[in-house]
Amino acid sequence: METQRKPSWLRAKLPGGPGYAATRRLVDHNHLHTVCQSAQCPNLGECWARGTATVMILGNICTRSCNFCAIATGRPTELDLGEPARVADAVAKMNLRHCVITSVARDELADGGASVWAATIRAIRYKNPHTAIEVLTPDFKGNTAHIDIVLDAKPDIFNHNLETVERLQKPVRVQARYERSRSVVRHAKSRGFTTKTGIMLGLGETKEEIEQTLRDIASDKTDIVTIGQYLQPTAKHLPVARWAPPEEFVHWKEFGLSLGIGVVESGALVRSSYHADEQSVKFTGA
Ligand code: SF4
Ligand code: SF4
Repeated sequence: METQRKPSWLRAKLPGGPGYAATRRLVDHNHLHTVCQSAQCPNLGECWARGTATVMILGNICTRSCNFCAIATGRPTELDLGEPARVADAVAKMNLRHCVITSVARDELADGGASVWAATIRAIRYKNPHTAIEVLTPDFKGNTAHIDIVLDAKPDIFNHNLETVERLQKPVRVQARYERSRSVVRHAKSRGFTTKTGIMLGLGETKEEIEQTLRDIASDKTDIVTIGQYLQPTAKHLPVARWAPPEEFVHWKEFGLSLGIGVVESGALVRSSYHADEQSVKFTGA
């Protein structure tokens, strides 16, 4: 339950309509997990009505416990070997020109789930040769051999979120590290991939810290950045420190572009996968 009153610019469209119902049926029939539901994304009504959803692989229980994230933490379920084929099938039925896949962190697996990631990318590509595939991955504890397993399956866009400024990493994402996350994105860039990352505003960061983070992202030659407002999913999660006004999002977009970042998608309701097809058209041509 949202514990703080949202300003008017954060009121999103309510779920409903034929497009929404069709996406819901597809998700249910294919026994898919979506981050749209698990993360209580405010754009669910709009995205599902457009026939887009972000599928979450490797189950819906995460081994980590980030203090901003609504996804359940605990002992994960056994690996679901039919998942890559079902995800590929759902992407085909949604007729997507651009799909976004994400996962929980599976730190207990020897490869962090990288082989399932690769199998999923290959299954999607086999069944949907014209669909651009964007992956939003965990950090694989910075293990480049595991990241390479994912990259060898050749996703079109590689995304890993920094989530917040350096100082707030520990309170916000306790098991992650700012430098490690940067190195994950840099590694994908060093192999020639189109890269993407994202941060949230409203966690207690300062203007100078946001500037520095965008400078770091630019110096890592990251192609696409998303900037959105943090929303507190339950009273147990971190409180919203402030509501960034719409003009501030415009400012950060202009600042990011001035640093040479190719695409900066910045707005209160922006999430990694919000209008991801439009964010990345410059890179995928899809
Ligand atoms: Fe799902 Fe992403 Fe849309 Fe949110 S922005 S509803 S996570 S596709
Ligand atoms: Fe949520 Fe990802 Fe953190 Fe897991 S690792 S709690 S899915 S943000």
